[in-house]
This record gives sequence, C-alpha cells and structure tokens, in this order.
Amino acid sequence: MKIRNTILLLGIFSIVILISAQIIIIRGVWQQKDEMFNLRYRLLSQDALTVMERQWSTDGFDTVRILLNAKSEMVLKKLTELKEDTLTAEKKQAIFEYVTYVLNTQEDLSQFLSRWFQRRGFDKDFKSKIVINRFELINFDKKIPVYLNDEFANRQQPQRTDTLRTGSQPASGPPRFRTGQSRRSSEILVKIYGAEDNFYRLDFVYYIDFSDKQKIVLRETSASLALSIFSIFLVVTLFLITYKNLMEEKRLSNLKTDFINNMTHELKTPLSTITVAGKTLELPLIRSNEAKILETAKMIGKQSVHLNQLINMILEISMWERTQFQLDKKKVRIEDLLNDIVESFKSGGGNGASIIQKYNFKDMEVDLDIVYFTTLINNLLSNAVKYSDKDPVIEIEGFAENNYVNVKVSDNGIGISKNDQKHIFDKFYRASTGNIHKYKGLGLGLYYVKKIAEAHGGDVTVTSKPGKGSIFTVTLPY
Ligand code: ADP
Repeated sequence: MKIRNTILLLGIFSIVILISAQIIIIRGVWQQKDEMFNLRYRLLSQDALTVMERQWSTDGFDTVRILLNAKSEMVLKKLTELKEDTLTAEKKQAIFEYVTYVLNTQEDLSQFLSRWFQRRGFDKDFKSKIVINRFELINFDKKIPVYLNDEFANRQQPQRTDTLRTGSQPASGPPRFRTGQSRRSSEILVKIYGAEDNFYRLDFVYYIDFSDKQKIVLRETSASLALSIFSIFLVVTLFLITYKNLMEEKRLSNLKTDFINNMTHELKTPLSTITVAGKTLELPLIRSNEAKILETAKMIGKQSVHLNQLINMILEISMWERTQFQLDKKKVRIEDLLNDIVESFKSGGGNGASIIQKYNFKDMEVDLDIVYFTTLINNLLSNAVKYSDKDPVIEIEGFAENNYVNVKVSDNGIGISKNDQKHIFDKFYRASTGNIHKYKGLGLGLYYVKKIAEAHGGDVTVTSKPGKGSIFTVTLPY
C-alpha cells in the first residue's frame, strides 16, 4: 500500500513538473513568435517609410501639418487680439480634439503601408493608432502648452523644466486630461514623430495594430503546442499503463504466494497420512494383522491417488499455459452425459447433496470433449458442495437457446461477494473468506472451468449473493 502510494505520488509529481516545463517552453516559443511578428512588420514599415520619403518626399503627414499650422496661427492671432497668453482648459481640450481628428483623418501613411504590405504578400488588415505626446503653440519665443502626455512628460523631465522656464508658463503647469490613449501589447511601433512648425510643436507616435495577430502567432506556434500536448498525453498514458501493470503484477504475486501456501497445505495432508501409515506398517502388532495391513495399504493407495491428482492438476495447468487446448470433440447427447456425470458425482462422495436435474434438450447432440466437459461440471458441483454451510441443495438446469446450450448450476451455499465475482475465474484466486483453510482449494477449479468453456467456443458467468447461494451458467455453441 505504501509503495503504491509513493509510486502514484511520484508519478503525479513528475507529470505536474512535465506540464509546467511544457507551459514554460510554450510561453517562450509564443513570446519569440510574437516578437518575430512585430519585428517583421516594423522592418517592413521602415522600408515603406524610406521609399515614401525618397520617392514622394513625404512622410504621409503633409496635409496634417498644413491644417495644424493654419489652425495654430488662427488661435495665436485670436490670443494676440485678446492680449492673452494662456488658454482655458476648454479651449485646450477643443484644440487637442481637433489635432487628434486631423491626425487620424488626414494622414496618408496608413494607406501607403497597407498597400505596401499587401504587395509583399503580408497581412494588410491593421488599425493605425496615433498617440499624441505633446502639442504646443509657438508664438515667436513663447510656447503655449496645449497638451502633454504624462508618460512622455516623465521621460522628458529635464527638457520640460527648460521649456517651462523659457516659455514662462503659469504655475498651473502643462495641462493633462484623459485621452483614452492606453497602450496595447499587440501594437507595433512604427515611428516617433517630433517636429516644430511655424506656429506649433507636435510630438506623436504612430503604431499599427493587427486584430488577428493572436491567431497568426497561434498558427505559427501550433506545431510546438501539438508536440507538447502529444508528449504530455504520451507520458500520462505510459504512466497509467505502467502503474496498472505494476498493480497487476503485485496482485499476481500475492495470488502466487497464496497459492503456494494453499498448495503446501493441500499436499501436506495426504503426505502426512502416508507417512503415518508407513510408520504404522512397521509396528509388529500391525504386521501380524493382515486385515490391518490391507486397510493401511488401501489408505496409502487412496492418499497417493489424491496426491497424484493434485500434482497432475498443476502440471496440466502449466501445460495449458504453453500450448493450446487439444480437444477431442465428439457428438454426444448432452442430457445423457449430464445424467452420467451427476450419477458418478453422487456415488463418488457427493457428500449427501441433493441434486435436482431439469433438462429441456430433447435428444439434442452437442459437439464436446467428454473428458474436459465432465471436469467442468464436476468442478462446479464440488464447489457447490464445498462452499456450503448447510445441507447442500444443487439444481442443474439445461436448455438450448439461440444456437447455444445453457447449463445452469445453482446452489444454496455461502454465495460470493460482488468484488470476488470479478476475480474468481482468475488463476489461483480464492475468495477471502474469513478462514482461508476452512474451505480447501488451490484457486484453480473455476480457472479450469472458464478455460474449458472458452476452448469450446463458449463462456461461463456467475450471479450470486452472499448468504443466498450462487448460479454458474455455462453456455456452449452447438
Ligand atoms: P478453490 O475452490 O480451489 O478455492 P475455485 O477456482 O474453484 O478454487 O474457486 C475460486 C473461489 O471462488 C473459491 O475460493 C470460492 O471462494 C469461490 N467459489 C467458487 N464456487 C463457489 C460456490 N459455489 N459458492 C461460493 N463460492 C464459490
């Protein structure tokens, strides 16, 4: 029990480690593929930008620049008219929205990139995302801040204080308002823009985002993923098979130990009788008494036959293991055969069992090996008598159905538990009745029964309730 639990625990532990290792590996592969994806599109975009600038002398934001310059000029003019050098929060918000709108609707880069990707056979369905970092109006040497991204501001700390100083900003500092511009991991940075024009300064970042990036990366990782799942599956299956085999080995080894114990017990009884009888024959008192000599000789003879039977049984079983059954089949009237078997069972010491026979075979002839079939029925009958705690009443019922003959042997014995029913046909198995030596046996009788039935192309089954008796049904084809 202890070893079993240790093996089970070790097995589960190793499987957990294996699964964790596989998860780590897959995550690594995923990250690698993800980075490769980003790199691929970043490089493609760089190429596209270079070509665009070289051939068209544009970066795709010309219209944006013209519009923003005009707007900035207009705002500055208004401020001069009003003799003001700061903007209200609402005004800043309105300008920021305008800048966002112009950037997103008037740029030509996205379209160019899309065509560029498509022509090279890559995915062209991306969404562009522009994150504004800073926008300020420039009035000669004065800078009027409109928007400053927090993250950007932190990165540009020294520059910012500079700007604030030269720009002589009010103590309130540059404006910060919610823009909803949070970054997603699937975004690929294409370029950081930062430029001053006549009337403004704009810093922004251009990203592209592929909606089916996950799908593409998953497709690229699928081979490693499938291999991992397969290896886990293989290891788990191997573990289960090994564990099952180990348990089966253990069960068989226990059965063998039980068998050796039983056999020793079984063999010792006739052997000790023979030894005692031999010693008795040496006594002068017995030697002079012919009747006593005869009686002792008979006893020795009987016990030798019993010993011989036991040894033959074991030899025969080991023969079966090596070779197939050699049946000598003959057509026999099954009803007559059953009657003969029961008769000789009764005369051969059926231990006063009452045996009721009910046959419905109607002269039917069945192809059988008479010797083996007799052994089969004899084993069932002797078990019915042996495993009984009251006067044994046995019923043998026989009938034919759907090309099979059925022979049912029912008894009123001690019965068999559900768990034992699963194993009683196994070699060496003996039900764990409280006192194992109360009922003598080697655990081979029913194994024999099953083997004989199967060799005839049939089978044997059991139904039983502890304390209520058992029914063994043998079915054979005819
Ligand atoms: P053995 O009788 O030598 O132990 P068998 O193979 O004939 O071996 O039977 C296996 C086990 O099945 C027995 O140990 C016994 O517990 C149980 N068994 C067999 N026949 C009966 C029966 N008629 N009634 C109750 N138990 C039985």
